[in-house]
Amino acid sequence: MARNYTIGVDLGGTNLRVAAYLEGAEFLEVLNLPTRLAEGRDSVIADMREAIEALVARGFGRLTGIGVGTPGPLQLPEGILRNPPNLLGWDGFELRRSIESALGRRIELENDANLAALAECTLGAGKTYGCDSLCMLTLGTGVGSGLVLNGDIWSGFSGMGGEAGHVIVAPHKGVPCGCGGSGCLEQYASATAIVRMMRERSGGFESTTAHDVYMLAQGGNVHARSVFSDVGEALGITFTSLVNTLNLPLYLLGGGVCEALDLFAPNMYRVLHERSYIYRLTEPANPATSQRCTRIQQAELGPRAGLLGACLLPLRMQKSAVEAELSVR
Ligand SMILES: [Zn+2]
Repeated sequence: MARNYTIGVDLGGTNLRVAAYLEGAEFLEVLNLPTRLAEGRDSVIADMREAIEALVARGFGRLTGIGVGTPGPLQLPEGILRNPPNLLGWDGFELRRSIESALGRRIELENDANLAALAECTLGAGKTYGCDSLCMLTLGTGVGSGLVLNGDIWSGFSGMGGEAGHVIVAPHKGVPCGCGGSGCLEQYASATAIVRMMRERSGGFESTTAHDVYMLAQGGNVHARSVFSDVGEALGITFTSLVNTLNLPLYLLGGGVCEALDLFAPNMYRVLHERSYIYRLTEPANPATSQRCTRIQQAELGPRAGLLGACLLPLRMQKSAVEAELSVR
């Protein structure tokens, strides 16, 4: 009997990754390409089509769906990009129509941070803790976030939900943000923010990466340590709002900045404990709720979460369609 498989695409600002995936197993094959943004959108779509056709030609079995993840903001269900900071020049691009006409078949499309959350829920920390609802923050160059409720991505009425990287953590004189606002979490907890904060308080220290600042903090540098303390505070404030609003069982942190988790976590948990009464009522240390508690911890799948989520998306959409049909009967 022919095996069923899906294809997932992770369209990033730097890398274009395309994978074939066998349900319940692992990647059958992953193709890594550069995203040729300078060559224009049509070249990127052509590269994507060629990679997908190359995987189909391998004869893995029966292809049941194609999922594509992209940086947002993404307007759904139309699949139109709205001024995406990581795909400059793609504002207004009809991504769904372009890919579907290149391939001659339907695709499933979703924001990449939402797909990472879906993968964590299905195959990562959600599976470990038996949770089918979670919120994930990815601390990288920016701060992405995704929300999964009862196994399905919650992307809002127009596809633009789950942007917790832009909740306000500094209401007065906050740092201006790429989204047009100011005082957003992204300006206090991303790798970019860590470098900026270090430069501001060390009198012009030329640290080039968040990893440099992490190494300095490990060595006891007081400025670097204060930067991570502030990262923890910003996350604590953010999680206070998320926990009080959503009462989810699981919140995850992913992305490169998590290498410094030991440095920023103490302040994050302290602020959260002080400011969120729902957290205090449900924290793991509370013996009354130790079985059903609010967990906040590191994601498990690493950088491949987005690509895995793209592979899982068609499977999840098919499952949801079946469930909806059953509930009508
Ligand atoms: Zn912002």
